[in-house]
Amino acid sequence: MARYPSKWKAMGQMRCPRCRYGKMFPHRAYGTRFMTMHEECPHCEMDFEPETGFYWAAMYITYAFNAGLALVTSTLLYLFFNNPAIEVYVGVAAGLGLGLTPIFVRYSRALLLYTLGGAKFNPRLYPR
Ligand SMILES: [Zn+2]
Repeated sequence: MARYPSKWKAMGQMRCPRCRYGKMFPHRAYGTRFMTMHEECPHCEMDFEPETGFYWAAMYITYAFNAGLALVTSTLLYLFFNNPAIEVYVGVAAGLGLGLTPIFVRYSRALLLYTLGGAKFNPRLYPR
């Protein structure tokens, strides 16, 4: 039986990919410092920026999240609100996209760090 969280759970909670315990972000998502990350894991001291400019690629993931959101909201508006005016589509998609920006940015960074960050999970680093 595993005493530590799964990779998906740790990524969902935005924990360090190496120890799955230390938090990637020191502040809450909805605040002025939502983008501020720890430079290294507060628990195992893994460097959260493997190379300079590493998180530029997260911008593309955020874009994909927003494109998916626009697709889903547009489909739902079309099906359940009888194809409203184009301003409604744009307003709803833009409003939700802006509102979800902190969450999208953080999950983009977590996804990037877990997939391309090059860190392997070390169970010995997870506190007992
Ligand atoms: Zn760590």
